[in-house]
Amino acid sequence: MNDTVLSEEVFLPSKGLIYPKELEVPKSIVVCPFKTKDLMGLFSNSESSINTLIKNCIVGDLKINIKDLHIEDRTALFTRIRAITLGSYYNTKRECPTCHKTFEVSWDLNNIECEYLDIDEYPIPITLPASQNNISFGFVMPNEYEEIKDLIEKRKKQFPDKEFDEEEEFSFYYTACTIKRIDNIIPSLESRLEFLLELPPEDFSYLRFLINSINFGMNNRKYVTCPHCKAETISVLAITEQFFRNTYEIPAGIRVHKGILGCAPTKNV
Ligand SMILES: [Zn+2]
Repeated sequence: MNDTVLSEEVFLPSKGLIYPKELEVPKSIVVCPFKTKDLMGLFSNSESSINTLIKNCIVGDLKINIKDLHIEDRTALFTRIRAITLGSYYNTKRECPTCHKTFEVSWDLNNIECEYLDIDEYPIPITLPASQNNISFGFVMPNEYEEIKDLIEKRKKQFPDKEFDEEEEFSFYYTACTIKRIDNIIPSLESRLEFLLELPPEDFSYLRFLINSINFGMNNRKYVTCPHCKAETISVLAITEQFFRNTYEIPAGIRVHKGILGCAPTKNV
């Protein structure tokens, strides 16, 4: 491989601004390519094995655990680790929603747009427009995702007969998690949820607006045109196990061909 690099400095989309100061998360992290041994366990598709792979590729020490990095920072890191290990071109398959035929979508990992966070203070102090409550707004971190999942499971068990729209419930909990401080106190997820449910709907809409407006990270989607029916559709760059595998051509001179399993009667010996 000609374009292999030994290491590379990756600028985090969060610029390290969203982590507690004592964790000293830098604005950029140096990574190196992964080796075959780092692939072990990766194809079980578990998140912890992807985190281990990233950890093995980080040059120098980090105080923060990889699993505690915001998902957009982690995605940026493993996109670059993939690019410097297997090359920047990555092909995915997309099924056309109109004609249902499959086609290939190419990504150049050296040219992915990224939104970088630009803030003066974190968590971000805001005043809710209707209630005039002063709160601090922030991003949902991996440990909070886990808390949301646990709380949803707990509620499901608590109210087994209740109609349960998991997606809607998730969206409320997610929004509650963006409330980092109420009157300068750090509340539990449950009290944030109680606070949110009592807010005027305008305040809830405002929080949803902030979530959708200040999302940082790589732009992992693009418009593509189906080569079969010319319909336009959106393709998403998903980080799956495939992301860590290359596609190859069989070397010249090697072939296999289909046939019926061969046998022929012989004279008695
Ligand atoms: Zn099509």
